Amino acid sequence: MRAYIRAYNTRLREKILAQLGIRCSKCGFDDGRALEIDHKNGGGSEERRRLSYPTYYLHVLRNLENYQVLCANCNMIKRRERNEWKEIFEPGRLGHQANL
Ligand SMILES: [Zn+2]
Repeated sequence: MRAYIRAYNTRLREKILAQLGIRCSKCGFDDGRALEIDHKNGGGSEERRRLSYPTYYLHVLRNLENYQVLCANCNMIKRRERNEWKEIFEPGRLGHQANL
């Protein structure tokens, strides 16, 4: 990816985080390096496959009400609870899930 596109993507991501809040909406974690933009109703990974960067970020900016910020841990837990990671992890393969 060309450097200027990467810089543009970084700026768009920062803009999204600034609008949604640089903080995990579930646990309050606030280190931007491990924060992810999550589609509230799921389907985010399908969207990212369909829309490449920076189109995906522009789409998020136009539809901010559908998105939230989650840290990597909360996002992973949410995906596993919704079985969005079924194709990668067999259920139960890593042992029972911690109930937080
Ligand atoms: Zn979190």
